[in-house]
Amino acid sequence: MSKNLTTRAEDYSKWYNELAVKADLAENSGVRGCMVIKPYGYAIWEKLQGELDRRFKETGHSNAYFPLFVPKSLFEAEEKNAEGFAKECAIVTHYRLKNDPNNPGKLMVDPEAKLEEELIVRPTSEAIIWSTYKGWIQSYRDLPILINQWANVVRWEMRTRLFLRTSEFLWQEGHTAHATKEEALFEAKQMQDVYADVVENFMAIPVIKGYKTETERFAGADDTYTIEALMQDGKALQAGTSHFLGQNFAKAFDVKFTNKEGKQEYVWATSWGVSTRLMGALIMTHSDDNGLVLPPKLAPIQVVIVPIHRTNEQLQQIGEKADELIAEFKKRGISVKYDDRDTQKPGFKFAEWELKGVPVRIAIGPKDLENGTFEIARRDLLSKEIINADSAINHIENLLNEIQENLFVKAINHRTAHTTEVNSFEEFKEVLETKGGFLLAHWDGTPETEEKIKDLTKATIRCIPMDRKEEVGTCVLTGNPSKGRVLFAKAY
Ligand code: AMP
Repeated sequence: MSKNLTTRAEDYSKWYNELAVKADLAENSGVRGCMVIKPYGYAIWEKLQGELDRRFKETGHSNAYFPLFVPKSLFEAEEKNAEGFAKECAIVTHYRLKNDPNNPGKLMVDPEAKLEEELIVRPTSEAIIWSTYKGWIQSYRDLPILINQWANVVRWEMRTRLFLRTSEFLWQEGHTAHATKEEALFEAKQMQDVYADVVENFMAIPVIKGYKTETERFAGADDTYTIEALMQDGKALQAGTSHFLGQNFAKAFDVKFTNKEGKQEYVWATSWGVSTRLMGALIMTHSDDNGLVLPPKLAPIQVVIVPIHRTNEQLQQIGEKADELIAEFKKRGISVKYDDRDTQKPGFKFAEWELKGVPVRIAIGPKDLENGTFEIARRDLLSKEIINADSAINHIENLLNEIQENLFVKAINHRTAHTTEVNSFEEFKEVLETKGGFLLAHWDGTPETEEKIKDLTKATIRCIPMDRKEEVGTCVLTGNPSKGRVLFAKAY
């Protein structure tokens, strides 16, 4: 099969789009900014969902579902949140079409079917959920509420890219209610840790945990915790966020509870989300000019077996060997596909599975049958070796772990090589232009300076790293005092 992928060096963004489409992950749809996620892409998303969902449940959360539409009066109740999302809302104003008398065969909005109150298509669900929690919470005995929902949301984005930024996207949103500030803070940090754990250990993408600055914070939050990843092209990607919402939504929706002392108090809140954007992070962290590279834990197909034969008798013998392998892999929970399509040649199949990022390929030919061997190929290194058939299962099981580990180490090394401490604005600009990546720089802590740096360089503060060392310095732009370095980058 001909891959004809644009290379990363030629045009990174073109490479990304072509890869997403050619590896059968997703494609643009007839609806502006909205994508079709194809079965192979969806299978990866489902594996990721499964892992996240497991961790949410392990940490005490349950899934529930709330409506897609938010009445405008509820939407605007928490002012900061409403203001933050107002510019990217889809709004339902009517509920019926009718035949257009002036345009036979066409439909028009029925002006008589105007809604009394407009409905906002949820860009996030705090409003609808907190208006519901009001009815659920009376006393401290009703707390905490630990709920997650898997849903789609709509944000009318102007510049969209498959997975990274779409107008409709799939995500999960956790919404929790607590009796104390400490508990809510613990929850928000815990979920940041859960995200970091899944993204690092399952997706093999290293992340920096930090706080957002006031400017970059979620609208309506007192604090936003983020995980930030660095892509191959030196741009950062916000991979997940967890918000400490204080009592803002409880106040907006009048959600109070009677505490143990019999006093009325407002409830404390968090919300946290990761989206299909993580699929974009996956592509831009591991993939290469031959196509997708998947970490084994996330790969819907971990091993593919391709027969190489001339005669039907050979194919039958290879099929028997493959069946034995498949039975053994299944016992160990390794997902395997036997590609015995007679419509394609082996070379085509090799290229196709390479493009789709299957971590390990086993080729079995007549020579292998004679010698008791298999040829195995690793997708991450594009290397091949001949192995003994008897030890194949153990060998490949270990290999899958090794590939998982190797991808993570490679990504960390890339990040280390593209993280630079800079000490003057000249250096800041130069490193950003020549090398990109994460810049660790002193900042005076004001939104004005943050804005100015963004205007001058397009770099934003990705986060104030949680584990940053105390280090007295001077702001790269203003020379004013700073207590520590923050993480800058150009971002997706
Ligand atoms: P937020 O509710 O803004 O904190 O976003 C929650 C998660 O969704 C974050 O990980 C964002 O990076 C991601 N996200 C925000 N906007 C989009 C979008 N238009 N497309 C895909 N993911 C998004």
